[in-house]
Amino acid sequence: MTNILIRSVDILTLDDAGTVLRDADLAVSDGRIAAVGRIPQDFRANEVVDGRGKVAAPGFFNAHTHAPMTLVRGWAEDLPLDRWFNERIWVAESALEEEDVRWGAYLAAAEMIRSGTVAFADHYFWMDHVAEVVQESGLKATLAWCVFGLGAEQEIGGTTLARTVEFVRRWQGAANGRIRTVLGPHSPYVCSPEFLAQVAQTAADLGVGCHIHAAESQAQVDASLARHGATPIGHLTRLGILDRPAIVAHAIYLGPGDMETLAEKRATVVQCPNCHMKLGMGTTRVPDLLAARVNVALGTDGTASNNNLDMLEEARLAALAQKHDRRDPEAMAGDLPLRLATQAGARAMGFAESGVIAPGRPADIVLWDCNRPHLRPRHNLAANLLHAARAGDVADVMVDGRWLLRGGELQTLDEERILWEAERRAFRMVGSELKQVRAYRL
Ligand SMILES: [Zn+2]
Repeated sequence: MTNILIRSVDILTLDDAGTVLRDADLAVSDGRIAAVGRIPQDFRANEVVDGRGKVAAPGFFNAHTHAPMTLVRGWAEDLPLDRWFNERIWVAESALEEEDVRWGAYLAAAEMIRSGTVAFADHYFWMDHVAEVVQESGLKATLAWCVFGLGAEQEIGGTTLARTVEFVRRWQGAANGRIRTVLGPHSPYVCSPEFLAQVAQTAADLGVGCHIHAAESQAQVDASLARHGATPIGHLTRLGILDRPAIVAHAIYLGPGDMETLAEKRATVVQCPNCHMKLGMGTTRVPDLLAARVNVALGTDGTASNNNLDMLEEARLAALAQKHDRRDPEAMAGDLPLRLATQAGARAMGFAESGVIAPGRPADIVLWDCNRPHLRPRHNLAANLLHAARAGDVADVMVDGRWLLRGGELQTLDEERILWEAERRAFRMVGSELKQVRAYRL
């Protein structure tokens, strides 16, 4: 059994009571938090960490992303959603090879660990490679193999629903429970009603939920009303997609009754504020959703529309977007945005015990280095973290009591090799390798 004692650390527990502890001790035993504050006298540590000047907080749960899309970071700039997809993303993804997915996921894993993320809900293709990266990196993840329902010959990698079902079975509970799997139908605007009904039945048979995009634009709502006589949320409900708790990314444009339906079905809405702002999509009505008792989590979306996987930035933008849009500085107050980025995401992803620092919970902890000018004075630790800290202030990250980042060094991944291999593959995908090499030589 590995026992770790973090001494004299400030602790932002992010529990519902907003408990903050100063100059406290934190004991980790066998992957779980053994004690917070007062440590039992008989606790024998194998490792003692000096926590002075640091803040311990729960690690982030990124509830909607496409990790391997790191390879198209910066490749689709300043375009409306349809042109962003048709002229850039689809062109690059047409050249996607199976092994690219692995290296894109490695690059994402390194970036996520370095910015304090401990778990991510991923939605992409050839997901076995992402699962292997999760296994190796030590992160947690809820993985969905994206499927459009267009028939194998038109899908990336010849995907079929049957193949995604095999993936769900193969990886459910793998890596000592760090990997969870769900089904990943793309969206109600791409998938046919017949296909979605089939997915819903399959999800019920498997006993898993779905991870899906919905209600991203008014045009999607108008088309759904015209074609199906229901809003995207109403349409998904009718087809049974929400019968098991689902992760619904975006949900910006909601009609009457949609919020109540999402609450009743125990769905999670994932706001991706950075992506929503960058693509000019609008703002998910988070305070209204919370008032309707919908679980709301935060996600980065893929780096082609963001362009990073920094969850601290998402939490900050989640607060700023509502304050700005509503002309209300009291909107999304206190540590609420941080709790959406941690415990709400953990709940959505099936890791309901995580996302809070409390005895008995999994030790998914980030230590933030606060010995920095922009983090003094320490009047309000939650405000400092939310509005003043940066991803670069992350010093140490542990998942289930295992260090993934220690003193700023990645412990499980070969970062130098990842940077080289991922970029080489990214250039190949968009056919710009030669140009880039020449640029380097100039
Ligand atoms: Zn997405």
